[in-house]
Amino acid sequence: MFDVVARGFFHALAHSRLLKKLASRYGMATPRSFARRFIAGEDIDEALATCRAIQGQGMLVTLDHLGERVTSLAEADTATRDYLQLMERMALAGADRNVSIKLTHLGLDVDRGISVDNVRRILEAAKRLDFFVRIDMENSPYVQPTLDLFDTIWQQEYRNAGVVLQSALYRSERDLEHVIVLGARVRLVKGTYKESRTVAYPKKADVDRAYARMLHRLLLEGNYPAIATHDVEMIAEAKRVAAEHHVERDRFEFQMLHGIRRDVQASLVSDGYRLRIYVPYGRDWFPYFMRRLGERPANVIFVARSLLAERQFPLARPARG
Ligand SMILES: Cc1cc2nc3c(=O)[nH]c(=O)nc-3n(C[C@H](O)[C@H](O)[C@H](O)COP(=O)(O)OP(=O)(O)OC[C@H]3O[C@@H](n4cnc5c(N)ncnc54)[C@H](O)[C@@H]3O)c2cc1C
Repeated sequence: MFDVVARGFFHALAHSRLLKKLASRYGMATPRSFARRFIAGEDIDEALATCRAIQGQGMLVTLDHLGERVTSLAEADTATRDYLQLMERMALAGADRNVSIKLTHLGLDVDRGISVDNVRRILEAAKRLDFFVRIDMENSPYVQPTLDLFDTIWQQEYRNAGVVLQSALYRSERDLEHVIVLGARVRLVKGTYKESRTVAYPKKADVDRAYARMLHRLLLEGNYPAIATHDVEMIAEAKRVAAEHHVERDRFEFQMLHGIRRDVQASLVSDGYRLRIYVPYGRDWFPYFMRRLGERPANVIFVARSLLAERQFPLARPARG
């Protein structure tokens, strides 16, 4: 119950212009600013430096250039070009060849046809540079359009792309069957968006049970699934299912978000599991940041503490360290 209320509250705050303005001013201003716990930085150089550090610890990465729900074709085109540039830079820097994209960042709300073209531009470059492209899943109204677009590109033989399914949604177990038949790669998540009880389980225990069922199905029948969670019980369940059914460690991977449960991240790697870290960067970090707060309201205390510390040196420090 608290979980649902917290998500609703942070979802509402995510639309506050004042808060966004304040957060933009303080959130990334210095190397210790609060948003940096979850966001690698505002530009590609900072993102690549974070990737290097993560890869140095034996983990894999996927880079997300933050942005969503653009309202013009010009913004969608800029986002597409940014991804093209990002892939070139990642390839040059020797980063893992893996990016995550959002369809509303590429113009899904503005013109569906053009957003498909933008995805194709990214997939063509990805093919040339040998990248894998994960299409993130946004909130429930976007699920069908996302899966439709995915079917289209799959039929067009783009096999260097994968989808995300959210165990919170009632429909996802049916969608999973469809994606398994295609043979496409799935990232399994619980789902970060506030959803109505008409489409999603209102109780966290039911979301978790659905997650466990889906991970079981994916490990046995899926194509290189990504078990994306920080939930130690779900991670233990995935390890148990994999061991029981002799699913080798190179046939699936765990995924976690940058800055969350670093202790669990380190222990997965030292136990010899594959782990990919989702690394977001970019100037449009506020909605992503608010979703992280909504998932764990205790994060607010961390932000408040950082802000208090920041107030002691607001203007004395340079913008970048
Ligand atoms: C790699 C990756 C990609 C994702 N992509 C998508 C996507 O495309 N679409 C989508 O809807 N969702 C996505 N998510 C988010 C996901 O849906 C969940 O909201 C998020 O992972 C929290 O759920 P959980 O599985 O960790 O379990 P929970 O039960 O929510 O959390 C388990 C434990 O993890 C820790 N934890 C979880 N969240 C936080 C946090 N924000 N701050 C600090 N600690 C935390 C806490 O210790 C908590 O007890 C993604 C998650 C990952 C890891």
